[in-house]
Amino acid sequence: MAAKLTDASRICPGCGADLDPELGPTHDYMTASPACYARFTAVLAHEYSNPALLATHRLSVDTYAVQHPGDGSERRMVQSVGLHLARLYVQLEDRAAGHPRGAEATNAVMLGLGRHKATLEWLAPPARFAVTVADVAPFAGGPEHAARVITWAEATWADWAAHHGYVRDWVGRWMGL
Ligand SMILES: [Zn+2]
Repeated sequence: MAAKLTDASRICPGCGADLDPELGPTHDYMTASPACYARFTAVLAHEYSNPALLATHRLSVDTYAVQHPGDGSERRMVQSVGLHLARLYVQLEDRAAGHPRGAEATNAVMLGLGRHKATLEWLAPPARFAVTVADVAPFAGGPEHAARVITWAEATWADWAAHHGYVRDWVGRWMGL
């Protein structure tokens, strides 16, 4: 029997986006509504098809992951949130410092951090997010795509302010950044 769509399905349990309910796939452990996840995959489709959006793609993945963290009941949830926050920190703080790391350098940092993911602690997510993929998806593939993703990423990193200190310390401990 098909699942019943109700108004209760409107709000994404991860990012809080209010979207018309729809049926469809969701992620294995990231807590997203099907309607929200469909917006995300639409954004990704444009990024996969445009090499100029490689750095943008990295931000999209990290931002979406930390907006759909789950409840921390599984170790992979803990590690996903921690690692994606660390990735956001490296990318956004670099941008703020005026010297965005190249894709290869960023990947090297990420691989290095990944070796220490077992040390990550669960970070409880903020109660709400100011910008969601619902604000980005209408611009996917258009001239504002990259700028919208950056706004989304920066707002999301700001929403996680309560844990900035932890993330900075954790990245610094392992990578000396
Ligand atoms: Zn969502």
